[in-house]
Amino acid sequence: MVFGLLLVCASESAAAPGASQRAAEQLPAADGLYERWDPRRSWGTPHLINALEEVSQRVAFELPGADPLMIGDISRQGGGWLRGHITHTKGVDVDVGMFMHDARQPLGGFLDLRPSQLDVHANWVLVTSLLDTDSVQYMLLDQGHINALTRYAREEVGLDQDEIDTIFPPNPTHRHWRQAGVVRHAPNHLSHLHVRFKPPEVYDPVQEAKVPSTSPRSAVLGQRPQQH
Ligand SMILES: [Zn+2]
Repeated sequence: MVFGLLLVCASESAAAPGASQRAAEQLPAADGLYERWDPRRSWGTPHLINALEEVSQRVAFELPGADPLMIGDISRQGGGWLRGHITHTKGVDVDVGMFMHDARQPLGGFLDLRPSQLDVHANWVLVTSLLDTDSVQYMLLDQGHINALTRYAREEVGLDQDEIDTIFPPNPTHRHWRQAGVVRHAPNHLSHLHVRFKPPEVYDPVQEAKVPSTSPRSAVLGQRPQQH
């Protein structure tokens, strides 16, 4: 019923920046912290792998009793085209399953969820754990889910509107590549977060200096989805 839904990122924009270090490290098995949909499609930059491990540990600490994170596709070893995706070519993209009620993950993989089915607190912990790595360039999620998280941030966490706007772009449109907030709407993202990490050259500009690339900001603003 569900694993076909992993291959739903065709609407995401292409052309991840950065070229070396791509998909050089495999996310190792980690019972209790996360499940990998397919280890052969679980290769990322070292920075992405480290950040994912950090996030999974924090989520497990803050949500005792929660199901392990569900990690969908990252990239193939060494990168390159990955069936079912436009992105996921350079080890800087990962799909992470959303939590259902009681911090459960749907049995068998990703499953489209209604906003009313979300464990909003658990997903808030997931999103903020990702943001706190300071490694995330942007995340894509359905607007209905974003609305649920925004409401939670305002009413339960006590964030003011300016703080909320730094995470979730105001006046959302489907043109997510033009928006400034970190968590943006994209269609076909009712089951999972698509997380784009910053490219390797952000962390290692000397080693990456010979790699032609655009800045993270111009890369985000300049790219256009091939499908919508
Ligand atoms: Zn994705």
